[in-house]
Amino acid sequence: MKKLILPLFLLSITALGQSKLRPEIDQKSAAIESKVIEWRRDFHKYPELGNKEFRTAKIVADHLRALGMEVTENVAVTGVVGVLKGGKPGPMVALRADMDALPVTERNDLPFKSVNTSTYNGQETGVMHACGHDSHVAILMGVAEVLAGMKNQLEGSVKFIFQPAEEGIYEPGVTTFGAKQMVEEGVMEDVDAIFGLHIQSQLETGKIGYRSGPFMAAVDDLNVTITGTQAHGASPWSSVDPIVTSAQAILGLQTILSRSVNITQNPAVVTVGAIHGGIRHNIIPEKVEMIGTIRTFGDEQQALVHKRITEIITNIAESAGAKADVNIRKLYPSTVNQPELTAQAIPSLQAAIGSENVVIMDPITGAEDFSFFQRAKPGFFMMLGAMKKGEDPAKVPSHHTPGFHIEEDGFVLGVKSLSYLVVDYMGKKK
Ligand SMILES: [Zn+2]
Ligand SMILES: [Zn+2]
Repeated sequence: MKKLILPLFLLSITALGQSKLRPEIDQKSAAIESKVIEWRRDFHKYPELGNKEFRTAKIVADHLRALGMEVTENVAVTGVVGVLKGGKPGPMVALRADMDALPVTERNDLPFKSVNTSTYNGQETGVMHACGHDSHVAILMGVAEVLAGMKNQLEGSVKFIFQPAEEGIYEPGVTTFGAKQMVEEGVMEDVDAIFGLHIQSQLETGKIGYRSGPFMAAVDDLNVTITGTQAHGASPWSSVDPIVTSAQAILGLQTILSRSVNITQNPAVVTVGAIHGGIRHNIIPEKVEMIGTIRTFGDEQQALVHKRITEIITNIAESAGAKADVNIRKLYPSTVNQPELTAQAIPSLQAAIGSENVVIMDPITGAEDFSFFQRAKPGFFMMLGAMKKGEDPAKVPSHHTPGFHIEEDGFVLGVKSLSYLVVDYMGKKK
C-alpha cells in the first residue's frame, strides 16, 4: 500500500508543480495577444497554396530560431519543425499548425484582405485563407514564444510542427497531404503525444469544442464506370442500358446507410456527386461514369461501407448484363481523439477557458489530415470558436467560401489552451 501511495503523492506534487506555471502562461498569453493578431493579419494578406508556403514558412522558421529553437526547414516540401528543449527531462509533446490557403477569391472588405493570386488546375484564381489556417500559424507562433519564455521550467520538450498542404495536393498522378508526408519523413518518431486545433467560424468565440473518439470523418473518393451495349434509343431491347443500371445502382447505394451500417454507433455518408453518360436523346450510350464521396468514422465501418458499395454496384450491373468498374481511393483517415488523452485534456481546457465554455460537439463529416499524426501517436484535436457571440451558425459564411470570416478575440484562448495542454501533459507524464 505504501508503495502505491508514494508514487501517487509524488505525481500530484509534480502535477502541481507544472500547473504552477499556469499564472505565468496567463500573463504571457495576454501580453502576446496583439502580436498574434498582427501575425495573422499579415498571413491573411499574403496567403499561399499547399506546398507553396514559402513566405509563411520563412517567417515561422525565423521566429522559432529567434526563440532559440533547433529548426528544420523544408520538411515535407515547405514544412517547418522547431524543437524547444525544456530545462528538465520529460516527454516530447508536439503541437501542430497547418499553413496552407485555398484557391478562393476573397470577398471580405478588410484592410488585410488577400492580395495574392495563383494558378490552380490551370485556372487563374485568387488565394485566400478561407479555412483560417492563418490563425493556426499565428496562434502556434504565440505558443512558441510563451513556452520559450519559460523553457527552464518545462519538464520535457515541445516540438512545433508547421505543416504544409493540409487541404491536400491533387495533381495528375499525385495525391498527398502535408501531415501524411511529414509522418513518412519521421517527425512523429520521438513524439509522445500531439495536440492541435482548428478555428471554427460557426462556433461562438470563447468556446472550445471537442469529441472523444472519432471526431471527424475519413474521406474516400468513389469512381465508377458502368459499361453496357450501345443501341438506338428507339430499340432499347438491343442494348444493355448503363443509364438504367446506374439509376438502380445509385438507389441501391442508399440501402448501405439504411440497412448495413449500425447507425447507433457512427454516422456515415455515401454521396454520388456527378454522373455522366450519353450524348443525344435517341442514343443509349455504352458507358456511364459516376463519382462520389464516402465519409466514415472508423476502420471497421469504413471497410464495411467499401465492401457494400462494391458488392451492390457490381452485382446490380451483373444482373443487367453490364460490367461495373468500382474504384475507391482512400484519402484522409478519420480524426480520432484518443479517449485517455482526451479525458486528460479536458480539465486543462476547463482551467484555461472555463468549464462552461468547453463543449462536446457532434461528429463532423468533414476531414482533417491531423488524423495522420494521430495514427502515428496519441493525439487530441479541438475546435476553437471564432463566430461573433449571438450570431446564428447556420447563417454565417462557412469555411472554404469567399465570405469566410473569423473573430480574432478567441486567438488568445487558443494560445493559452495549447500551452496549458503542454505543461499539464508534462506534469502528468512524469
Ligand atoms: Zn479546410
Ligand atoms: Zn482547415
